[in-house]
Amino acid sequence: MALVELRDVYKIYHLGGEEIRALDGINLDIEAGELISIIGPSGSGKSTLMHILGCLDSPSKGTIKLDGTMIQDASQGQLAAIRNQKIGFVFQFFNLLPKLSVLQNVELPMIYAGAGARERKERAQQALSLVQLDNRAKHRPSQLSGGQQQRVAIARALVNNPKIIFADEPTGNLDSHTGEAILNLFHSLSQQGRTIIIVTHDPEIAAVTPRRIEIRDGRIATKIDSKLAGLSIKNSEASSLPATTG
Ligand code: ADP
Ligand code: MG
Repeated sequence: MALVELRDVYKIYHLGGEEIRALDGINLDIEAGELISIIGPSGSGKSTLMHILGCLDSPSKGTIKLDGTMIQDASQGQLAAIRNQKIGFVFQFFNLLPKLSVLQNVELPMIYAGAGARERKERAQQALSLVQLDNRAKHRPSQLSGGQQQRVAIARALVNNPKIIFADEPTGNLDSHTGEAILNLFHSLSQQGRTIIIVTHDPEIAAVTPRRIEIRDGRIATKIDSKLAGLSIKNSEASSLPATTG
């Protein structure tokens, strides 16, 4: 059984008599520990797919099974628990709260999960060391660089030890060198067994993930399980991102 199973998933919007098929019959299996990119042009349905995979939105038609739970049968409370405990989210603009310290930002998902103050602090510190920012715990987000802020957001996504991390254009607001460091971090997290799904419009990012899913007009266009892509990520650890040669 795959960690995530989508069967005949549609998301249909009706706008002024027009039918928009944001997702048009998606079938997809994702295994535990995969590092996947979902790539496609603007408006192709990437964010819609990510929101549905992340239980932030529900399909018009079709079924989703996530870690054994049929999502369409789950109550709102069960969905909230799944989002909080099984899934971590990373966004393009980091979405950190500016008035909280770095440590308090990372603690937030544990507050919703009901952890005590001491445990929260300990686990937030651990998550910050994973992204090598333990020495920035007391800073405000605005005192950090963009790459550091994204690492804080990744620590926040990791703090409840989720099985899956969804990242929507996580490097879209970073320079290429910093973006590469973030990708290497995702790569090492996936080697530790975490499932990472990166949504991007950038083919250079998609080129370094072992599996790529291309989406066009709400449909999966090609699925590439590329050994070559797996190799290029190792190269990128040593030097810069390899050019995509198609
Ligand atoms: P992407 O993330 O690839 O840019 P989206 O998933 O955001 O694409 O959107 C896919 C399609 O669905 C687009 O045509 C978009 O205009 C449409 N769409 C997304 N959300 C809504 C909505 N709430 N109402 C109507 N149409 C929507
Ligand atoms: Mg989008």
